[in-house]
Amino acid sequence: MTENRIVLNHAAVLDVAGGTLLADRRVVIRGGTIDGVEPAAAGNALAEGAAVVDVKGRTVMPGLCDAHVHVTAWSANLADLEWTSPFYTGIRAAEILKEMLMRGFTTVRDGGGADFGLAQAVREGRVAGPRILFCGHGLSQTGGHGDMRGRGMETAGGIGAGFGLGEVCDGIDAVRRACRNEIRKGADHIKLMLSGGVVSPTDRLGNSQFSEEEIRAAVEEAEMAGLYVMAHAYTARAVNRAIRCGVRSLEHCNLIDQGSVDLFVKQGAWMVPTLATYEVLGLEGGYPETVIAKLAEVKDNGLRALEIAARGGVKLAYGTDLLGPMHRHQLREFAIRSAVQPAIEVIRSATTYAAELFRETGRTGIIAPGARADLLVVEGDPLKDLACLQDPEHRLLAIMKDGVFYKNRL
Ligand SMILES: [Zn+2]
Repeated sequence: MTENRIVLNHAAVLDVAGGTLLADRRVVIRGGTIDGVEPAAAGNALAEGAAVVDVKGRTVMPGLCDAHVHVTAWSANLADLEWTSPFYTGIRAAEILKEMLMRGFTTVRDGGGADFGLAQAVREGRVAGPRILFCGHGLSQTGGHGDMRGRGMETAGGIGAGFGLGEVCDGIDAVRRACRNEIRKGADHIKLMLSGGVVSPTDRLGNSQFSEEEIRAAVEEAEMAGLYVMAHAYTARAVNRAIRCGVRSLEHCNLIDQGSVDLFVKQGAWMVPTLATYEVLGLEGGYPETVIAKLAEVKDNGLRALEIAARGGVKLAYGTDLLGPMHRHQLREFAIRSAVQPAIEVIRSATTYAAELFRETGRTGIIAPGARADLLVVEGDPLKDLACLQDPEHRLLAIMKDGVFYKNRL
């Protein structure tokens, strides 16, 4: 089979690192990789047999990364996943994945639920979707954010057949075993639930979860495998102890303080706010009173947390954490964040910064030779108007992943 060769000619290439648009370039793609980015006029060495596509001055930018998704969460009631057929969940996940790709996301990091099988199906092109970095289950203590049992349920260690987002484990040995099992199944990172959560039925937001010994054990297991830990946490107390124990990626972080910001910077840890989910959880409704009360607390503080983190120089990646019917708001995070951050910083959080978090700098989130041919052709200049990224139906003219067009209206 000959390698496919595509040239996107007369492109305005978004140089994310430099924060500028480079006018009239051509982007040469060979197989699944970007081979060259050069002035459109340069030479005539268009590879023979290459398909030349004139993008007519539109913006070519890297495909987007979402560093916090749950691609199997077809229901916003996460307990539903635990007693449904995994085949059904897989088919619903395929729909969610396709919609994510059609919004311009070409890489997503799953925070619980996706496994090696889904990642494989996408990699083989059997399902149209963003490449998935997965953790398998999010690990939770009994009564923690990954424990979906109601108070009246006494079944041991969870409620279903293991196809939910979380897995319950208690004690250092059980935590190590659970980490090793996810690593055995090919996990890209380990996920820990380290504080109460909004949609978990029995915990309080202010709870810290897992002992420091358990957290350190998970960090050690991850690092032994060349991986890192991402952790769900809201409060300053939960976030700070996680960072001190070596957790590298902190999710949500709505209730942090200046002390947390200093710790983030000192340890080089990452923060992944997920503000879109709080904005829309309330709108979609159907939640019990306890969830609505918890929601109010995190919603009001999320933007302030982002603001102090950005001002303090914390490394930030784009995340959304949407569930069930709310997935369609995945691009809303751009609008929310741009209230406290310049457009280029929000774009970086979904491209170059996310790539650094994934340890894929130079390969992901960038239009440059040697990078994955994951790119978008956009009508408009996202540096001046982030709204052009929020209307994919009309303004996202082409979506390429691994050198293959999944949408092409050029
Ligand atoms: Zn999550």
